[in-house]
Amino acid sequence: MSHLRARLAAAALAAPHAAPMAEAAPAALPCVDDLVAILRPEEPLTCLRTAALRANAAGFTAGFPGVTMYAVKCNPDPAVLQALWDGGVRHFDCASLPEVERVSRIFPLAEIHFMHPVKSRRAIARSYRLHGVKTFVIDSASELAKMLEETGAPADLDLVIRLALPTGPAKSDLSGKFGAWPVEAATLLRQARPHARTLGISFHVGSQCLEPLAWRRAIQLAGETMRASGVPVDVLDVGGGFPVAYPDQTPPALGAIFAEIEAGVDALDLPGLVLWAEPGRALVANGTSVVVQVQLRRGNALYINDGVFGSLSDAGPPGFRYPARLLRASAAGAQDFTFFGPTCDSNDVMAGPFVLPDDVSEGDWVEIGQLGAYGAALRTAFNGFGEGRSVAVR
Ligand SMILES: *Cc1c(COP(=O)(O)O)cnc(C)c1O
Repeated sequence: MSHLRARLAAAALAAPHAAPMAEAAPAALPCVDDLVAILRPEEPLTCLRTAALRANAAGFTAGFPGVTMYAVKCNPDPAVLQALWDGGVRHFDCASLPEVERVSRIFPLAEIHFMHPVKSRRAIARSYRLHGVKTFVIDSASELAKMLEETGAPADLDLVIRLALPTGPAKSDLSGKFGAWPVEAATLLRQARPHARTLGISFHVGSQCLEPLAWRRAIQLAGETMRASGVPVDVLDVGGGFPVAYPDQTPPALGAIFAEIEAGVDALDLPGLVLWAEPGRALVANGTSVVVQVQLRRGNALYINDGVFGSLSDAGPPGFRYPARLLRASAAGAQDFTFFGPTCDSNDVMAGPFVLPDDVSEGDWVEIGQLGAYGAALRTAFNGFGEGRSVAVR
């Protein structure tokens, strides 16, 4: 048994997990096509696949050799949180007081971790005193001082130092904003050690990272930083970034990334080091699709009722492509389309291309998939287009 397997077994024993709830009978839920035929929705219709969410949660928590915490910002819909809980997720990575309050209201027994390196004083004090949050991420000495002042430097704080990483191969780079560079991070580990019940180091390789070696390299850097600190470190948090499939992106299997992480951690030779992960996208992307209606076709551009200020912000400047499906039978050949969103802003355009039958026209409904991550969570009401319902489907 590797160190990691031993750790996994220990983590499983330590986790205060209830057995997952019984699944709602999937047959009781409508399918998307039937629902659209009945509702004929003229506003975007968000379709939630709770069975997929439960399966994602069960798969990740079983495969990852450590503690899995869900990054709530990715999709904070209470129905999504519930499905992940039902699949076995008990730890939640929150980044704001409202996220902490939401998770603690829905799941009084959840383990909530405050993983934003820059927090308001009120958020620190209330999270710690009212919601039992013990774990906080920091990346500067002034944030450490703020933490200790607002919590009263108690004996049960778990402190995690966020390590900065050089720009990596991920689709959404997260290297520019947070994190301490290795020398400063080692100093912070040393400064935090006397105040920490549990001391950790974390990083984020960037969102939608298709390259397993990115974790390996980051783990090596974290290992060097831990050694340089000269103090014992209890937790290595390998962050989020676990990728999912999009029409132009085929991710490696999660298992291949987990194997790379295990190999990287075994090479550190730090027995007893506990692993955490903070997946967002990988747990929820396939859990939601959005049904949009075509309001106008102009050549190969479709004007639809959702867009960059709604669920499709990542289809704007970040350039994500999503699978699209026409919700009626068609014998026409496939064609590449661009989408325009409903607002008057000329940035409300999604280049795609999105592949649909060539006879798609005004009034048609199109289901856009893989929108559970950073889709609904980013909707705004800009220009009066915030409406839209959410329904559970099978
Ligand atoms: C956004 C975020 C995550 C989740 O990232 P994914 O790429 O969606 O897995 C995890 N941890 C932190 C600190 C984040 O900011």
